[in-house]
Amino acid sequence: MAELEGLEFGKSDFVLLDEVTMEQFMENLKLRFEKGRIYTYIGEVVVSVNPYRQMEIYGKDAIEAYRGRELYENPPHLYAVSDAAYKAMKRRAKDTCIVISGESGAGKTEASKYIMQYIAAITNPSQRAEVESVKNVLLKSNCVLEAFGNAKTTRNDNSSRFGKYMDINFNFNGDPTGGHINNYLLEKSRVVQQQPGERNFHSFYQLLRGGSDEMLKAFNLHSDPAAYAFTREGAAAATSNNDRTSLKAVMSALEVIGFSVEEIRSVYQILASILHLGNLQFESDNESVQIRGADALAHVAELTATDPDGVSSSLLFRTVATGGGEVIQKGHTQHEACFGRDAFAKALYERLFGWIVGRINCVIEVKDYDPVLHGKNTVIGVLDIYGFEIFDNNSFEQFCINYCNEKLQQLFIELILQQEQSEYQREGIAWQHINYFNNQIIVDLVEQPHKGIISILDEACLTVGNVTDTLCLDSMDTKLAQHPHYTSRKLSPSDKSMDFQKHFRIRHYAGDVTYSVEGLLDKNKDPLFQDFKRLMYNSANPVLKEMWPDGQLSITEVTKRPLTAATLFKNSIVALVDKLACKEPYYVRCIKPNEMKSPVLFEDARCRHQVSYLGLLENVMVRRAGFAYRQHYTRFLQRYKMTCEYTWPNHLMGSDRDAVEVVISQHGFQGDVAYGHTKLFVRTPRTLFTLEQERAAL
Ligand code: ATP
Ligand code: MG
Repeated sequence: MAELEGLEFGKSDFVLLDEVTMEQFMENLKLRFEKGRIYTYIGEVVVSVNPYRQMEIYGKDAIEAYRGRELYENPPHLYAVSDAAYKAMKRRAKDTCIVISGESGAGKTEASKYIMQYIAAITNPSQRAEVESVKNVLLKSNCVLEAFGNAKTTRNDNSSRFGKYMDINFNFNGDPTGGHINNYLLEKSRVVQQQPGERNFHSFYQLLRGGSDEMLKAFNLHSDPAAYAFTREGAAAATSNNDRTSLKAVMSALEVIGFSVEEIRSVYQILASILHLGNLQFESDNESVQIRGADALAHVAELTATDPDGVSSSLLFRTVATGGGEVIQKGHTQHEACFGRDAFAKALYERLFGWIVGRINCVIEVKDYDPVLHGKNTVIGVLDIYGFEIFDNNSFEQFCINYCNEKLQQLFIELILQQEQSEYQREGIAWQHINYFNNQIIVDLVEQPHKGIISILDEACLTVGNVTDTLCLDSMDTKLAQHPHYTSRKLSPSDKSMDFQKHFRIRHYAGDVTYSVEGLLDKNKDPLFQDFKRLMYNSANPVLKEMWPDGQLSITEVTKRPLTAATLFKNSIVALVDKLACKEPYYVRCIKPNEMKSPVLFEDARCRHQVSYLGLLENVMVRRAGFAYRQHYTRFLQRYKMTCEYTWPNHLMGSDRDAVEVVISQHGFQGDVAYGHTKLFVRTPRTLFTLEQERAAL
């Protein structure tokens, strides 16, 4: 529990509410936001409200104030949980993780950066060069990943369009020795198309607006994003980011991380080739399909160090193996050619992103660490991943993202409960198990083998012949008709909010989401003609070639059944959850106070909705149903011994525990506490209030 600030700032821990109701919760959250107190605890969970203004709470002084202190000694802060995670890692050799969740624009990425900055600031006091260099790479990697993985959306000018999990490794001294980044599901459809008012990834605009004359000339680029199909939509969209100056910062970060000059050049050549690719059009004269835009074609070939004829033929034809083992060239229709071009552009970008992450990982990977020699290598993981999404039109991406949130919610339930239970067990305290909604049933709906939605989708994708999106919907309707969290218009004919042919609905823990099946199978199959892969593998640019190892396969060697996008995503999320589950978790729950990016507006209904689906009220209840507050006997005495004549200034009892019993009895709180082996457990916050008030009155 946090140190009690004056009550004019509201309650610094929601467990201190008089009653756990939505009204009281919201009242406290709003009051604190208005008073500039953006962080509030639920026990050890930090609830954060995006202030949409620069707060003076992240400076060197603040870092010093939180360093090495206990959670309740200072007002709630990200630094306090970062320190708690760090202490657990250093003192108890525990692997820990900090899970940051919340919807788009709620402040997850900013929080993850403050956490990393804090950890960087409190480690390596002796300034050892190799540790400083690891810290530097970890911090610089944010700048690079944001340039390539973030974009302006209608909800956030700097929205992360990928999930990120970063492990930071520490040696026995508690200094960072390296790290590893995992990235999840980059929203690559953004490369070729953006919603009105949104932009492509920042990197494209940074190149166009910030590239030197020499660079733009060499890449045959204009500086105006409106000149390119893929950046036209976002060309006029204003952002708070400065594209012009960002390029320098990103290039210098790449250099600091250890990318070679050739590698950096190649990165931007690939971006340029994607822009030119977007300007290629196709025309058809009934007989065959041709490319319109010879210049763009030549530029793509030059920038990818490939042969123009090769580029042209992979855009217009695909190599197929006939039943008789013969290999032939089959011409695309105009529609297929456009589809192929877009798939190629998306894949180029996705592989570039993956390669950049892989390169950073190579640099920060812990090398030559001998646990016998150096002690246990411990880890703090930081997860900054997309929150629950409900749009007007929800598709494959939202389906994956919301499934991921179901998995994380499941983990939250397990870990928070598990943690509580094991603490009571350790301390020898009897405890009543609490029941609340377990979302495992929804997780199963999505991921169960054979019966789950992903399996049904995969089956449809692997079926030879013309399986359409609507046939796939039929199949889901048949197999899932009885599932309490699944429905569709066919199954609930009276529900006019869904289209009969196109939609199904999942009752997620965070609310109902209607998904469109249009394009679902294509996105799941995520096909890319082998011709493109081979073309890239044969590039004379070694960096590009390295990104396309699967291009060396000939058409007859290509596996017929690659894993689908949904299954790959599921596997990566299952692995992530496994990784988190074996660590001691700390949670940051971010709330977005309004849609206008306003520092003063607290939209009650929006916030209430977030509080409700983040399960914060339940969190408070769980925390309180057991014991809201626990404290080591010695610490408790230090704080409250002055409220009792027998313990002030020092007690003569046999142990601190005996002395605490005396304090508690003198106040008449015996019925409200339990005595653990090392800690006092207090059931109701009111007890603490009274003690705090007495202490303050002295
Ligand atoms: P997404 O899911 O779209 O990536 P997010 O939760 O990561 O969203 P952020 O990018 O962290 O959201 O925050 C959005 C914006 O809100 C930031 O660009 C910044 O302007 C503001 N913001 C967030 N947190 C803070 C903070 N602690 N102090 C000041 N401004 C903040
Ligand atoms: Mg983000």
